Amino acid sequence: MPEPTIPGGLEAAASAKESPAAYDVERVRADFPILSRQVHGRPLIYLDNGATSQKPRSVIEAEASFYANSNANIHRGAHGLGSEATAAFERARGAVERFIGAHNGNEVAFTRNTTEAVNLLAESWGRAHLGPGDEIALSVSEHHANLVPWFQIAKERGARLVPLPLDQDGRIDLEAARRLVGPRCRVLAFTWVSNVLGAVNPVEELAALGRSVGALVFVDAAQAAPHFALRLKERGVDAAALSAHKMLGPTGVGVLWGRESLLEGLRPWQTGGSMIETVDFETVTWNRLPWRLEAGTPNIAGAVGFHAALDYLRALGWPAVEAHERALCARALAALRGVEGLRLRGPAAPEGRVAVFSFSLEGVDPFDAGALLDAQGIEVRVGNHCAQPLMAHLGAGDGLIRASAYLYNTASEIDALAEGLRRAVSKLRRPTPAAAKA
Ligand code: PLP
Repeated sequence: MPEPTIPGGLEAAASAKESPAAYDVERVRADFPILSRQVHGRPLIYLDNGATSQKPRSVIEAEASFYANSNANIHRGAHGLGSEATAAFERARGAVERFIGAHNGNEVAFTRNTTEAVNLLAESWGRAHLGPGDEIALSVSEHHANLVPWFQIAKERGARLVPLPLDQDGRIDLEAARRLVGPRCRVLAFTWVSNVLGAVNPVEELAALGRSVGALVFVDAAQAAPHFALRLKERGVDAAALSAHKMLGPTGVGVLWGRESLLEGLRPWQTGGSMIETVDFETVTWNRLPWRLEAGTPNIAGAVGFHAALDYLRALGWPAVEAHERALCARALAALRGVEGLRLRGPAAPEGRVAVFSFSLEGVDPFDAGALLDAQGIEVRVGNHCAQPLMAHLGAGDGLIRASAYLYNTASEIDALAEGLRRAVSKLRRPTPAAAKA
């Protein structure tokens, strides 16, 4: 199969690579077909990228082209088409390996998503290594994907979850973590970037802390991978997970990355086809890494689409993407400050954060505000954002409004959001008790 191409995106991507200043967001937007549609008769302003990103034409076409030209099952065919499909799938693995900074492809196991990767690690490693009295340290800002699997395995093995508090800006409080992560800690699992606060956690310091007590260090990179270079092998962590769909790729593809020695020691989690070497009615021997961790037919076309997404991101270049996002952050923080009654959670400065903003509006039901924004074509997310412990910690029982921007969003979209929020405040704000009495 030919290498995936970037038909619409190549020019925008290539020009952006020359220098961050050359980043032309309108040319980037032209690569994303959905961005030219309307919602409720208004131009779409998509600010729900934390949930899932939109896809450039090159990703859509790479997946369609796989089905049109190369579709076959992998790793088992004696025929040419099967070899072509296998080569495309394994090329995608190689692209992931390079993109995330792994040592080699044995460290990259494809999963359905981040959630599945965490379940794989928690169950497989946890069953073999956790016992009564052991501790699993997690921050209070974890997405449920990096909480519930650890909760379950802790319950099964008699281990205990240790919540790590946050500092004023919503990052994991390192001083507190140093007090709480002790010799009983067997796992330190934390989100690199909070899906609610946008705060970037100090991954290297936390990894060093986990290593110092001999804990397994796992980082949930679902919200980090779309925004900056992971360089995993340099960070000191043992394992990480991410989802393709949050970084321009298709749904149904995720990655568990782990140091080879760690993955080598994992008990097979799901069993069946493709993950064994030999089996009879008496014995079974397992396949080599990484296939041992990939039972059954994977999302082959999705992996090919993910490869195209990584090519697209690589061609844009992190310096350009990061500079654009920093500018969006600064714009958003200033614009949101101008909305009366808006209370932002998370870092108030553009440094050390990504363009994910969660907030409440005084006297306004967040769901009503979300509906009003939607009527204007502005798509944000409202609710607990799969982070109930964080909502409790923030005292945000009614939920928060979250606007999450990405590399194709524009300053004028941010301004439209602020304008929409002002409208929400003026239309929806409940009178305060004092005003109601008067
Ligand atoms: N971790 C974080 C920080 C997330 O934001 C999300 C999804 O929003 C997940 C994990 C779960 O990702 P997925 O639903 O793709 O498994």
